[in-house]
Amino acid sequence: MFPNHAHPLVTAPAETAILAMLLAESPLSRVELARRTGLSSTAVTKAARPLIDDGYLHELPPERTAPGAGRPVNPLAVTAEREFFVGVKISADTLYGTVCDLRARTRTSAHRPLGDRDPESVCALLADLVDELLDTKPEFRSRTRHLGIAVSGDVDRDAGRVRYSGLSRWHDVPLAEMASRATGLAVTLENDVKAITVAEHWFGEGIGTEYFALVTIGAGIGSGLVVNGQLLAGAYGVAGEVGHISIDPAGPLCSCGQVGCVEATASSEAILAAVRGATGRPDLDFDGAVQLARGGDPAARDAFARAGHAIGVGIASLVSLFGPERVVVTGEGLDTYDLFGTHIKEAYAAHCFKAAGKCPLTLRPLPWEEWARGAAVVGLQALFP
Ligand SMILES: [Zn+2]
Repeated sequence: MFPNHAHPLVTAPAETAILAMLLAESPLSRVELARRTGLSSTAVTKAARPLIDDGYLHELPPERTAPGAGRPVNPLAVTAEREFFVGVKISADTLYGTVCDLRARTRTSAHRPLGDRDPESVCALLADLVDELLDTKPEFRSRTRHLGIAVSGDVDRDAGRVRYSGLSRWHDVPLAEMASRATGLAVTLENDVKAITVAEHWFGEGIGTEYFALVTIGAGIGSGLVVNGQLLAGAYGVAGEVGHISIDPAGPLCSCGQVGCVEATASSEAILAAVRGATGRPDLDFDGAVQLARGGDPAARDAFARAGHAIGVGIASLVSLFGPERVVVTGEGLDTYDLFGTHIKEAYAAHCFKAAGKCPLTLRPLPWEEWARGAAVVGLQALFP
């Protein structure tokens, strides 16, 4: 995170545990918090005290307990407006920004079309967008310290650098430092799929899971993995590249240079190329290919079917490998789920190893603003050690 003076709110393990739990689920009684964290009730009360004093937690009026069940207890809740977080998602042509509270609820959002794509211009526009968001309410300005930025590609979160992003052909850009200088906020930079995985794990479908995966389908096929309750980065920061699992040694060439990757058959570009090739219509765009398939054109339907099969096999490989409790499937590719959803599910069921196939696939359409929320949640993570 940049600048280097991080602002962790909690450092002790007990405080960390109860704050994390209350952010996702609030209110909870001290007894429930103790049960779930394995702490004693006394330890919960002691850990909560500084967070109550700082205004991050508050006590609700006592719950009436059954006669003879002892004295009434005050449940604990997060004070959502105590601090706000800005998130910005950099997409191919637009900056999407949002302000979230401590419960990751979106309080306001805005977007700006991208002009020049060089890092300096993008940073200047990003600073304007952040200003606009923080000017919406005085408390946003006074109670925001952290900005999360999500961008596609190879992102070194610890170093705050975009090592490579295909969006604007960036190479080794120190974006966190630049954005911090431009906005005055502490900046955490993350890959966009990992950012939305964190948001879903902490505040969405993945709450309470130790093993969780999110798969995005569309222009690219990506995934974020949670193992032992933690986002998996991998030794080189690129764990979870489900799109580049090779499923067909004789398959088409992939943009990554390998052959037969899931993405080489299942990305929107790959589907379009297949439909163009099979119909002899190089003029087709993706919407045209979708229309052909929905109209019953066998070649177009077949291209979507093969894409669905590839995605299903890819997800099955992921699930057989690390056994998540749940997989969320999202991305702009969900718009054409009617054309390949059945094929995804069939291939998934056919290729999962034994009990791993119990893991349900949940479809979750996420509009662009939700990606900015993912970035804000990455900013929120800076409260933790
Ligand atoms: Zn590939």
